[in-house]
Amino acid sequence: MAQEDVFKKLVAHCKEYGYVFPSSEIYDGLSAVYDYGQYGVELKNNIKKYWWDSMVLMNENIVGLDSAIFMHPTIWKASGHVDAFNDPLIDNKDSKKRYRADVLIEEHLAKFEEKISKEIGKARERFGEAFDENKFRETNPRVLATQQKIDELNERFNRAMNASDLAELKQIIIDNEIVCPVSGTRNWTDVRQFNLMFATEIGSASDGAGKVYLRPETAQGIFVNFLNVQKTGRMKLPFGIAQIGKAFRNEIVARQFIFRMREFEQMEMQFFVQPGTELEWFRHWKEIRMKWHQSLGFGEENYRFHDHVKLAHYANAATDIEFRFPFGFKEVEGIHSRTDYDLKQHQEYSGKKMQYFDPEKGVSYVPYVIETSIGVDRMFLQIISAAYTEEELKKDDGSSDTRVLMRLPSVLAPVKLAVMPLVKKDGLPEIAEKIVKDLRFLFNCQYDDKDSIGRRYRRQDAIGTPYCITIDHQTIEDNTVTIRYRDSMEQERVEISRLTDIISEKVSISSLLKKL
Ligand code: ATP
Repeated sequence: MAQEDVFKKLVAHCKEYGYVFPSSEIYDGLSAVYDYGQYGVELKNNIKKYWWDSMVLMNENIVGLDSAIFMHPTIWKASGHVDAFNDPLIDNKDSKKRYRADVLIEEHLAKFEEKISKEIGKARERFGEAFDENKFRETNPRVLATQQKIDELNERFNRAMNASDLAELKQIIIDNEIVCPVSGTRNWTDVRQFNLMFATEIGSASDGAGKVYLRPETAQGIFVNFLNVQKTGRMKLPFGIAQIGKAFRNEIVARQFIFRMREFEQMEMQFFVQPGTELEWFRHWKEIRMKWHQSLGFGEENYRFHDHVKLAHYANAATDIEFRFPFGFKEVEGIHSRTDYDLKQHQEYSGKKMQYFDPEKGVSYVPYVIETSIGVDRMFLQIISAAYTEEELKKDDGSSDTRVLMRLPSVLAPVKLAVMPLVKKDGLPEIAEKIVKDLRFLFNCQYDDKDSIGRRYRRQDAIGTPYCITIDHQTIEDNTVTIRYRDSMEQERVEISRLTDIISEKVSISSLLKKL
């Protein structure tokens, strides 16, 4: 099945099974805003807990924070967001569709890359085992010509972006004959800058309303509280502050479901270090964060680093962790060495010292910062795209059937255990209810007695429940139940008293944390 179709099915599945709903659906929705349903919110909470515990519980020198969404407007001036948190925007006059000029150019570049990949694919088929990709890239005239086009366009594009040269961005689009994907025409407006921050007003107009922004990232709340936490927590460098919270960006083009939203959630950790040690810590956090992702078991080949060549003005190193989504490798997390830029800016704009007194050296200085920043929603999308599976099942009569299941890591699954009486009589429901009552202190259990047992299994597969137990007449005689495993569909007979032991360890966050 084409990856595009898989993605469409995943979006439909999320809605059908209470994971993600379009916001304000009865009013035809609100673009790029989504609501999480009864299972979605459980998965989201589990993701947040896994991240939080891996930061705050596992590291003595990392503490948490929950700062407000509204902050003093000067913070966004100091951070550079008022002047520079812009995307270049362009409209097609025929389709009336709006695009990010940089994304149009990047997509054009990706088409060239695709062309090269196709050439390589064909050659690999032709030459078989003897094929040497590097040599082919260095010598094949068609590949060389395409690569030259890529390099030239990349250089011109980077120059225009660095200089915020909007006229040149438009010229690049015209020179490369980039057309609107909807109208197919080249009838473009000029490129304009568009600030991504949402603004609103605080206070009533009569007592002097002031313009405030909905924060576009949680990081600044950490920077402005750096000394509060350091002093009250008697923290010594190196130390980190972790925060989970909502962020808002008025994205020009919001696409791909919950990948790019206008209201989303971030999990950010700012790690404060001695100047001069930052690149060592940058490498450290790169490794730790990649391990965190890979501990979920979705396959190492589905992750890669994308090191930034072009760095933001405040950074001296930056990388993205990319995951292979159904629409290709895309960023899920950014790791940035932000130098002392943010703290120094706040020192300048607030007039308050943002320095750390180093008791060992006997001097004060502004620490350097390594940031790890990941979107909860993008992480959610990573997990459900990796987990969504359609499995062909052969029946005894030779026909086949499709089983839809979510292979969610047990630790993150919204429901850990479904408890099912085989029939709604003979005392079986009472036994099932008692098991739920006993186990629900330990993990999320669901009682399910509707429909045939086969349909109930399928329903739990679709939700991603890793374990189902069935209570039958034998249970009355010997206190045993059948436990059925979601992924293998294997069933075994176990004593009720063993259930806690069998399930608890597998669904506990600590089993993942121990892998880190
Ligand atoms: P992109 O290049 O995709 O716009 P970014 O580089 O601007 O992302 P950062 O500012 O580094 O992203 O934000 C850190 C993380 O926050 C991203 O890795 C992503 O997981 C998440 N994130 C950023 N913007 C959005 C959004 N509009 N919707 C959902 N998640 C987002």
